[in-house]
Amino acid sequence: MQKRDINDKIQSVLKDVILPILELPDPKIVVSGGRGVGSAEGFRLVENLAETLRNKIEASKKNNEASPDTETEISLMISGDSDSIPWGPLNKSPVSVGASRAAVVSGFAPRKYLIGINGRTVTPDLYIACGISGSLQHRFGMTDSKQILAINDDHTVPIFEIATAGIIGDLHEILPILTEQLKTF
Ligand SMILES: Cc1cc2nc3c(=O)[nH]c(=O)nc-3n(C[C@H](O)[C@H](O)[C@H](O)COP(=O)(O)OP(=O)(O)OC[C@H]3O[C@@H](n4cnc5c(N)ncnc54)[C@H](O)[C@@H]3O)c2cc1C
Repeated sequence: MQKRDINDKIQSVLKDVILPILELPDPKIVVSGGRGVGSAEGFRLVENLAETLRNKIEASKKNNEASPDTETEISLMISGDSDSIPWGPLNKSPVSVGASRAAVVSGFAPRKYLIGINGRTVTPDLYIACGISGSLQHRFGMTDSKQILAINDDHTVPIFEIATAGIIGDLHEILPILTEQLKTF
């Protein structure tokens, strides 16, 4: 893929996939890395994207706090459903980091990040799988995610059977651009 094509693809993923998730009142996102990250340093690209998404969500929540819609606030308080209050109990991070077993076994990521049959099961609004082929054991832990964005250099791998969006290419090239563009989006 040409550099311009990658930029265009990233822009459309930001606009059509990531932005609608960020606009949800209480979005949940998991960013996961697999063997394809290649090293512990490569895994930092996954963590950087997660941190940037987290900062974006926290900033937009702060903006909402600064100018709350009084009517909405009161009706939500009366309903008593604390989970539906956008500025409610926010101590739980909206963005988590995950990893495949190959990434954990290779020493790229700590075991606590493991997603799958031997790890955590997650059902976020958006699961971003970076360099993960989509084995059955991994899918067990994330297949019920509402949307799945796969970033992989091989379009034939099983993660694309369940992905709702994809970027085909080298994640070492894609993730830094995606993260930088997200900051100014
Ligand atoms: C009993 C048992 C239990 C298991 N439990 C789990 C579990 O709980 N969780 C789990 O995850 N696995 C589990 N596994 C392991 C599982 O079978 C797979 O081996 C593992 O999920 C593969 O991880 P992966 O997708 O990161 O690696 P791979 O299958 O090697 O895939 C790596 C992917 O990265 C892509 N890639 C490579 N380089 C790049 C690049 N530069 N840019 C973009 N893409 C790139 C490749 O195309 C490939 O698709 C278990 C296995 C067994 C037998």
